[in-house]
Amino acid sequence: MVGRKIKIVDTTLRDGEQTAGVVFANQEKIRIAKYLNELGVDQIEVGIPVMGGDEKQAIREICKLGLKSSIMGWNRAAIPDIQESLDCGVDAVAISISTSDIHIKYKLQTTREDVLERMVKAVEFAHKNGVYISVNAEDASRSDMDYLIEFARLAKQAGADRLRFCDTVGILEPFATYDRIKTLIDATGLDIEMHTHNDFGMATANALAGVRAGAEWVGVTIGGLGERAGNAALEEVVMALKHIDGDDLNFKTELFREVAEYVARASGRILHPSKPIVGSNMFAHESGIHGDGVLKNPNTYEVFTPEEVGLQRQIVIGKHSGTHSITAKFREYGIELSGEEANGLLTRVRAVAVNLKRSLFDKELVNLWEDYCREKGD
Ligand code: MN
Repeated sequence: MVGRKIKIVDTTLRDGEQTAGVVFANQEKIRIAKYLNELGVDQIEVGIPVMGGDEKQAIREICKLGLKSSIMGWNRAAIPDIQESLDCGVDAVAISISTSDIHIKYKLQTTREDVLERMVKAVEFAHKNGVYISVNAEDASRSDMDYLIEFARLAKQAGADRLRFCDTVGILEPFATYDRIKTLIDATGLDIEMHTHNDFGMATANALAGVRAGAEWVGVTIGGLGERAGNAALEEVVMALKHIDGDDLNFKTELFREVAEYVARASGRILHPSKPIVGSNMFAHESGIHGDGVLKNPNTYEVFTPEEVGLQRQIVIGKHSGTHSITAKFREYGIELSGEEANGLLTRVRAVAVNLKRSLFDKELVNLWEDYCREKGD
């Protein structure tokens, strides 16, 4: 494992846009591609060229930007699809076909042999045209392992650069993931990309388990946008690799919040306050004990700094606050509270917070202070 570099392929513009109810305007697709490039993403899956129209136009324009990131087009295992990708000027193609019996029988209504044949033909065509190739084993997590190994071996022989291991329905957990990926790599030596879905809340954990088993690529989206419960989130994977696994990919993480907000707006989604890494509550502390700890040393309740992901620390004053937080908050307003004043205010703050069922705004705190001073007669 020493010396290998984990690479990130972002599919916000393909799997992310495939989310029910999400459509990006072409200008938004271009803006997002520029953001991904600036963040440090190794490869951007930009869309599905064979759809034609606006989709193909946006992909063409992204290819012309001359970004540092590799640009990948998504294709079914069919030569006309791949021809459309090549027409756009991409340097990489994803060639996708299902490998599970349930997909082969009911969706494709064909045989395992036919799947192998279609995949090999498509890969050979792409290889002849000199582009980087990811072969996507759709529903890999529900595929027979011996068949998947055969599929991967033939893909490699035909010229594939990596296999995208798709947990299409999100049914894996980290221990099974580790075993499958290790088995695949030992048997084929092919590079593996983890493509994990979050149906059971394990997309990021499964991606990390795959990396530990030897996968060198991780497929992600901004904010985990993607079909159903979504994909592994770019910001989660990058920050977990850095702070949990000690593997810094040198991303421009300070942009995470800004990019997450942009993609949330463009996709018509709210950015939930408790979203991992980029949620507005990540660095908001209300409880007296936590507020006190963070004021003494932020490391007591924070693993990384807010600046690292483009957020700000916030001591929130509300029902659970303590006198230490209130004193620090009023110091920001230029008011030095005595112990008695802090206690007097705290009682009022709690009563108002319960009444309003929320924490208090600055203006409300200042009003409470003025009331307190009036009642005391000074
Ligand atoms: Mn997917």
